[in-house]
Amino acid sequence: MIRELFFNQSSDSVCAFTTERGAVDRFDPYSGFNCCDYTGDTSQHVAECRAELCHRLGISDNDLLTARQVHSANVAVIDHGILQSDANDRRERLYGFDALVTNIPGIAVGVFTADCVPMLFADMRAGVVAAAHAGWKGTAYHIATATVDEMLHLGASVEDIQVIFGPSICQSCFEVGDEVVDMFERHGLPIGEIMERNHTTGKAHIDLVGANTYLLLEKGIRALNICDPGLCTKCNHEKFFSARRLGINSGRQLNGVFIR
Ligand SMILES: [Zn+2]
Repeated sequence: MIRELFFNQSSDSVCAFTTERGAVDRFDPYSGFNCCDYTGDTSQHVAECRAELCHRLGISDNDLLTARQVHSANVAVIDHGILQSDANDRRERLYGFDALVTNIPGIAVGVFTADCVPMLFADMRAGVVAAAHAGWKGTAYHIATATVDEMLHLGASVEDIQVIFGPSICQSCFEVGDEVVDMFERHGLPIGEIMERNHTTGKAHIDLVGANTYLLLEKGIRALNICDPGLCTKCNHEKFFSARRLGINSGRQLNGVFIR
């Protein structure tokens, strides 16, 4: 149900994780374990899963922050003001963000994904963590860069930032239309390095993790601080939610990180 993810330079002081579906009823796109409250699941199921997740992580429900994601490059800074607001106020304040950053110990920031790329960040020396959701739009809008920028504002150093990718769709599974290729080119992504065409269909296949890795390296993140466990959501659909397999009305992985 929880898969811990380990940065290349890991330490006991930080916990990064993603969720797994667990026991799956193949007729139910929300089974088994789904913490996402805005993709059609019942609020009761989501509340039960969230409570279980927080219990296992050893944090309170109030200390796990997620946003209503909209495929933007907007980054929310989680400060004491947001933490003191009530659940409704919080929901409103965190509408329209696709990355969350904090420097408050014990506060977990998380993003929901089902094929899109989750990135978890930590600067353990500065005590700054972040979670970002990058589908093809967020990738093209450079959310990876925007997230690093907010971490730097909170005192992180580019040479100390560790990044790990959570489960997401692999290049072979990620067939896209040429409008996506055009958009990536317009936004300065190296299409020759991250796109291949299927020899039979002629369709473009984009390496979303590769595109985000490019942006991180361009920003100055060290290659040895970037870790890709290579978990494909669509290939491993019995473990992970995949919107391409299940449709968008389905559960999501919750990918999060916090300083213990
Ligand atoms: Zn795959």
